[in-house]
Amino acid sequence: MTIVKRGLFLLFISVAPLMAQTNPDWHAAFPAFKIAGNLFYVGTADLAVYLINTPQGNIIINSDFPEDVPLIRKSIEQLGFKYSDTKIILISHAHGDHDAATALIKKDTGAQLMIMDADVREEESSARGRPGAHVDRILHDRDTVQLGGSTLTAYLTPGHTKGCTTWVMQVDEGGRKLNAVIVGSPNVNPGYILVGNKNYPQIADDYVKTFRVLQSLNADLFLGAHGAYFGMKAKYTKMKPGSSNPFIDPAGYKSYVAEREATFQKEWDRQKKNPGSPAP
Ligand SMILES: [Zn+2]
Repeated sequence: MTIVKRGLFLLFISVAPLMAQTNPDWHAAFPAFKIAGNLFYVGTADLAVYLINTPQGNIIINSDFPEDVPLIRKSIEQLGFKYSDTKIILISHAHGDHDAATALIKKDTGAQLMIMDADVREEESSARGRPGAHVDRILHDRDTVQLGGSTLTAYLTPGHTKGCTTWVMQVDEGGRKLNAVIVGSPNVNPGYILVGNKNYPQIADDYVKTFRVLQSLNADLFLGAHGAYFGMKAKYTKMKPGSSNPFIDPAGYKSYVAEREATFQKEWDRQKKNPGSPAP
């Protein structure tokens, strides 16, 4: 076994327990709904997929797993849009729960796949659980993606993956401009090594940078890669015509980022005292 192959093998071993750690909400249907302006939710009960509708077609953020694509497609159609109008596919980060179906959706729709530079290798990999999807455009920190008058900005928020991306866009809700922040992931997964990680030596410094970036963002609409990050199910039940939009939650965003940073810091401190001991 070459060193590279051995590295990939060890990487797979470390990722395998994450794959097994499934949540029943991951593959459960959830009603499609409008979040605000031209931004819609078309994901499952926990794996968030966002659709941005424009006069020149649609952008989607995240693909979920191939088995979830029929639900995503149904959600898109329930909103009155066409799956075949998907022009651009973006992701939160290169983990299977957000990107495993990118190659399938590309094949179905001919959409362009745009991925943050440091996640491109994982995206194009055909290793088990990886989509093996050709990347049409490589993104860099703070690049913008534009379609039909909508602009999304890609903020590199690394640590969870090397190219983890937080998407920011302004939506117009009845003349009111709202800043939507779709958090890529600030989480330290089970098995992650923060101290002495040979595959990702700067991982802890990257998380520190990510928390600075997340703190700097001004979130009116607090969203993320999983519905659980922002209490999606509870907020959805509070959506009522004429009352304020529960997804407008700048205070919830700030407290989420602060809580996630404290949790990261605690685990980093633990690993500094126990180098090589992976996150539980
Ligand atoms: Zn992940």
